[in-house]
Amino acid sequence: MGVFEKGFEKAMEWIYPSNIYCISCGSIIDNSRDYALCDSCMQRFHWLGEKTCQKCGKILSPDYRNPLCWDCRTFDHEFDRGFTCVQYGLYERGLLMDYKYRGKAYIGRKLGDALYDRMSLEEETFDLLVPVPMHRKKQARRGYNQADIMARRMSRRSGIPCAPGLLQRRRETLPMKGLGPFERYENLRGAFSVSPQNHYPIEGKRILLIDDIYTTGSTADACSLALREAGAGRVCVVSFACGANIPPKQ
Ligand SMILES: [Zn+2]
Ligand SMILES: [Zn+2]
Repeated sequence: MGVFEKGFEKAMEWIYPSNIYCISCGSIIDNSRDYALCDSCMQRFHWLGEKTCQKCGKILSPDYRNPLCWDCRTFDHEFDRGFTCVQYGLYERGLLMDYKYRGKAYIGRKLGDALYDRMSLEEETFDLLVPVPMHRKKQARRGYNQADIMARRMSRRSGIPCAPGLLQRRRETLPMKGLGPFERYENLRGAFSVSPQNHYPIEGKRILLIDDIYTTGSTADACSLALREAGAGRVCVVSFACGANIPPKQ
C-alpha cells in the first residue's frame, strides 16, 4: 500500500470514525457490528442465501429450479464467474446512493470488507484486483471512483495487489437490453481498454474485477473482454449488490 492510500485511510478514519454510526441509517452502534451496520439494517438487507447463479452469482430464490439465472440462460458472458453479497433492494439502493452520490466515500471501506468476506467463501485465488473504471470526467466530478476504494480495502485485507488505473473507460456503453448478439458484441468492444501506462503483467493472470453493482453484466463483460484481449488467464467479477433474477419479457 502506497503512502497515499495509508494517508487516505487515516484521514477517513479521522473524519468518519468507523463503527460509531450505522452506515445505512445513521443510528448509534457499538464497534462489534459487521460492516458498521446496525441490527435492523443487517436484517433489512437481502444477503446471499443458499442458491446463486453458477455463472454470474446472482441471488436466486429457493424455489427457482435452474442452476443459471434467466440472463445467463439467455446469453453467455465474457467473464468466467461472478459473485455478489446482497440483492439490490430499497435499503441496498439507499446505501449505494449515499456512497456514490452523496460524498460518503467512507462507506467504501465497509463494502470492501463485505467483498473480502464474500470471496473468502470461495476456493478461487487471484493474482490481481482490478476496479471497474469510471469515465475520467465523471470521476473528476465525483472526486473518487467507488470501485477503487472497495478494491483498495479488499487488497489490504487479502494481500492481493490492486491495480486501479489498469483499465480505462473510453466511452459509455449502451444499455444491453434489446440488442441482438452482434450489436451486443459491438457495443462492448472497445468501451474499455488496458491503459498504456499499465505496468502490471496480465498475461495468464487470474484477475478479479471489483464493482459496486451487477445488473445485466454488460460492464463486467466489456472489462473482461479488454482483459482477455490483453491475455488474462481467468477473469471473475465481484460486486456488492446484484439485480433481481427476472424472466425475460416475451
Ligand atoms: Zn442501521
Ligand atoms: Zn446468472
